[in-house]
Parts: sequence; C-alpha cells; structure tokens
Amino acid sequence: MGRKKHEMWVRLMVLLANMGRCVYCDRDSSEEVDHVVPLSTKGADHWGNLVPACKACNLGKSDKGLFVWVAELTYRQRARDSGASPHGPKGLVWMREHIDNAFDEVQVRIEAVKAELDDEARRDWFFDRYWSLGKNDPVWLWRAWVEPSAAEARTKGYPKPPPPPRVRITRSRLGQLLEPVSPDETP
Ligand SMILES: [Zn+2]
Repeated sequence: MGRKKHEMWVRLMVLLANMGRCVYCDRDSSEEVDHVVPLSTKGADHWGNLVPACKACNLGKSDKGLFVWVAELTYRQRARDSGASPHGPKGLVWMREHIDNAFDEVQVRIEAVKAELDDEARRDWFFDRYWSLGKNDPVWLWRAWVEPSAAEARTKGYPKPPPPPRVRITRSRLGQLLEPVSPDETP
C-alpha cells in the first residue's frame, strides 16, 4: 500500500478542521495531515482516517498507536509545565488520570473532525474552490491563502457544520461531564 499524495483541496479541508489546530495537542496550528491509524498498521489512506496535526505531533506520533502518543504527549506536557515528572505510586495514579482525560479529549476532537470531514456541504465548499490546485505545491503556501476565506466563511456559518466547540471532559463519581472551554483559554 503506497502513500499517495492527497489532492490539495483534501489536504486543506483536513488542515482547516478543528479550527485549524492540531487535533492531538489542540495548541499549535496544524501543518500536516496525519493518519490516525497509521498506514503501517493498515490505516486507510482516506479522509475518514485523516486529521490535522502540527509537525511535532505528527513526527512524535509516527507509527505509534493513538493511546501511546497521547500518553507520551501528556507526560511531556506535565513534565514541562510542572518542571518535574511524577514519581511513586501517587504520581502514577495522578499521571494515569491525566492520560485518561487527555485521551478522552483527543477522541472527542477526532470525532468532531470526522463529523466535519463527513459533511458533504463542507467538502463541496473546499472542492468547488480548490479542486484545481496542484498536488505538489507546499501546503503552507496555499493554506495562508485559503485560511482567510475559510475563516470568513466560518463566521457566516459556512462551510457547515459550524466549528465544534472546544470541550474538556471532567470525570466525576457519576461519570463523565463535558465542559465547554472558552476560546481565549490556552490549553
Ligand atoms: Zn500538536
């Protein structure tokens, strides 16, 4: 199974999902199209398996499974933010909770991206405008050009559906709660 180059309109359509942010860290701008299930483990080379990713996450995730990458990312973020790695049994429980939460959040975002990419009207919007773009041009070039019009369309409620709200999952004794995250809040 060869990795083929996606059409530019497909790449732009994927890159601008999740409000143009990386689906894994939800912090950096998406720069690359990543396969959630790696091609090496028989993941599909189709937009149902594509998500927007930043360079660091795309490179870091590589052929790892999703959970392994989210665990690594969470560990790194925590180590960086708190300046210390969690140690001992308490640290492990704490880490486990953070990883579980991060994994749930990533899955919610991936599902939201899938919903965006599944939307025919949104797909048409990208296809109608960008089907003629060359495959080999650097994405960043086209992205810079497409982004403003996509942003404008978004404010007009198009392409549909409207961008999914950012949510975080909070665990409680009663189960999981979805909490909206304000757009200004940096994760
Ligand atoms: Zn990222």
